[in-house]
Formats: sequence, C-alpha cells, structure tokens
Amino acid sequence: MRLLVVGGGGREHALCWAFRREHPEADLYCAPGNPGTATLARNLPIAADDLDRLADAADMHGIDLTVVGPEVPLARGLADRLRAEGRLVFGPGAAAAQLEASKAFAKDVMAAAGIPTAASRTFQALDPALRYVARHPEPLVVKASGLAAGKGAVVCATRREAEAALRAMLGEGTFGEAGRTVVIEAFLEGEEISVLAITDGHEVELLPVAQDHKRLGEGDVGPNTGGMGAYSPVSVATPALLERVRREVLLPTLAEMRRRETPYRGVLYAGLMIDRAGDPWVVEFNCRLGDPVAQVVLPLVSGGLTACLLSVASGGAPTRLACRGEASVTTVLASEGYPDAPRKGAAIEIPAALPEGVTVFHAGTTADAAGVLRVAGGRVLTVTAVAPTFPEAQRRSREAAEAIRYDGKVYRRDIGWREAARAEHASASFRG
Ligand code: AMP
Repeated sequence: MRLLVVGGGGREHALCWAFRREHPEADLYCAPGNPGTATLARNLPIAADDLDRLADAADMHGIDLTVVGPEVPLARGLADRLRAEGRLVFGPGAAAAQLEASKAFAKDVMAAAGIPTAASRTFQALDPALRYVARHPEPLVVKASGLAAGKGAVVCATRREAEAALRAMLGEGTFGEAGRTVVIEAFLEGEEISVLAITDGHEVELLPVAQDHKRLGEGDVGPNTGGMGAYSPVSVATPALLERVRREVLLPTLAEMRRRETPYRGVLYAGLMIDRAGDPWVVEFNCRLGDPVAQVVLPLVSGGLTACLLSVASGGAPTRLACRGEASVTTVLASEGYPDAPRKGAAIEIPAALPEGVTVFHAGTTADAAGVLRVAGGRVLTVTAVAPTFPEAQRRSREAAEAIRYDGKVYRRDIGWREAARAEHASASFRG
C-alpha cells in the first residue's frame, strides 16, 4: 500500500502515526511533512497547495490513497484533480468543500435543510452591514466568509466592536478576499463540541467527540487561535445527543449537498454549540479533520481507520472504526507571540522519557543543518496522552508539556477544565 498524506502540521503527523500503526509495511509519503512525519514517512518537499506537483508526485510514486489534511488544497480542488486522474483520494471536491470555504454558502445550505444554527445575514457592502448591526442585539458575531486559518470569526460583545470588525473586513480588507463577504450572526451560548463524521455522502461513521480550546489563555480568555488543546471523549456528548446530531444535522446536510449535485465525501466536521436545554446548534462546518482535534482523536482509534478512508475514497460506505474506551488529552505548545507574531528559532529539547501513553506530534518545527530541532511556527508541538481515565490523561499531557523545553514556550495548563469540573461535581455529589 502506498499512501500520501498532504500537509505538514500536527494533524498530518497524527495521520502518518495512525497509518503507520495500522500498516507497518506501507510506503508512506507526506507532502511537505515536518521533522515528526520524517520519522514515519518519506517527506516530499512539495507545498500542500501546489496541486500540479502533488498530482505529479502521486503519479510518480504510484500512490494508492491520498489523504488531504488541510482545507486550502481541498477548496482549491486537489481531490477533484486527483480523482480526474483516476486516483483514490479521501476528501471532498472543491464544490463540496465550500461548506467550510464559504460560511455564506454553509449558512445557505443549513437554511435550505432546516438545520439549527444561529440566525444570520450575509453582506458584501459596508453600509447595509452597518445598518443591520445598528439594529442587532448584543453580543453578536462577525465572520469573514472565506478561509481565514481559523481567525476570521470575531465575537463582539458590543455593536461598536462589530462595527469595527466590519470596517476592518469590508472597508480595509484585513482578511483579503476571505473578508469581502461577511456573515453577521447571533451569539450562541453554551458548550462547544466537535463532531467528526467520516462520510460517503449518505452514511456517517463518527469519530470520538472532542472539545477544542480556541482561546490563547487559561480559562478561555485572550485571542482566538487555531486551537490550544483538546480532549476526547466529552461527557456532554451522550449517545442520545449524537443520535440527534446525526438525524438533525449530519444526514440533512448530506441530503442537501446531494440535492445540489455536489455530494459530500470525506470528513464532515460539525462545530456545535450545545445550549442549556441540551439542544445542538451548528457554529460551523469544516471539510477536514481538525488540528489539534486529529491529534486527540486519532490515538483513540484502535483499528479500521485506513480501511474506512479507503472505502469512502473508493465510493463505498464508511466502514466501522474500532475505538478504545479510554480518554485522550492533547496540549498544544505554542511560541511566545502566537497567534500574531510567534518567535521562531529557539532550540527544542524533548526528553527521551515521557509519561506512559504520551505521543508528541510536531507542528511548527524544523531541523537545522546540524540536526537541532528548532521552533518554526506558532504552534510548535502537540502533546497527546491516552490513559484509562480523563484526569490521568490530563495529568500526563500536562506533565509532558512541562518537561519539553524551549525559550518562549507558551501553553495552557487547563485543557479539559470543563470536563474536570464535571468530574469534580459528580464525585462531590457522590460523596454527598
Ligand atoms: P468559526 O470560525 O465559525 O469556527 O468560529 C470560531 C469560534 O468563534 C468558534 O469556535 C466559537 O468559539 C466562536 N463562535 C463562532 N460563531 C459563534 C456564535 N454564533 N456564537 C458564539 N460563538 C461563536
């Protein structure tokens, strides 16, 4: 089996790790990869959005299955391109990837399919958008419609903040093309969860549910980031809730995509807000695995991942995944200045002995000419711990995060705080 993973972050390292575990003998390639994927796969020096060279590489290496990690190559049509050349690829084509690449499109699909989501309006001109905001209750959310690396949503406590966000996006073009169309929506209150469904456009196979931590600071304060850590499973995601998500969100979305003749194949990632009443509302769709959600969820899959992705890539239904009934916590190690201007270049020391069940996934690292591992991006490493219980996984991930050293290391010590509070509450009630 010859597998190609497209991308070079923590998610792609986790994918390589999962494939290698299932197929020790496979020929595994990663483009462009990173120093972490280099220990498991052959890195190809091709950017994840260089469609021509990726197609050539798939041809040259006789790749049986390409798995695309990031959203940008999907939105640009990498999956269409490879399929047109007769190759198996896991990931939606450009038209279906619009569910992530255009929030305006996603809102339109949700409205047509009757999916619960925040009330919203879409604008391309500043003045009507400002007039709409003037009448909108606070708080509210202003979003660049296009791809903005997870940074295009501005949660605004006041109308004044929303006006500033609109002026920046529609007036000054701060998000470039991605911000030429904006979605203004009502603020949803509740707890966010990430439900990832592997789908052929008809049926879904769910991965374990995760909760991401988007804010930079402990206690969920500070700027939005690509994600500072995650845990899985999440106890609010009961089987009954997931059945509702399947029936009320995932299946109707897939049906609407089929109706539009752009069937969705790949991972459909639903970012959901669970309100006080326990009802799910869609915050966003993503067209791929999340980062760091992949790093927390894939280590819980104990078998069947490659077969499932291969089945969907071949046009079949998703096959069953085997999952271990354990807990997983991942802590992102970032670099000082992230998300705006991360410091780069510091030498990284990863101790040889880390707590049991810990795997370190590389994201923004590079090996210099002397082979020294150095910081090369905002999010540097993701430290995942799998353990029989949530508190144990949390402790091990945090201890390993502490033990890794480089100048300017920034991380949250409270990943999974909501789950920890629930566990504490439950044991306090039990003690009476
Ligand atoms: P998005 O880019 O749409 O995923 O938004 C990024 C983050 O902003 C989400 O993960 C939420 O934490 C927050 N957010 C987005 N939309 C809303 C909303 N309507 N209500 C509350 N929070 C939101």
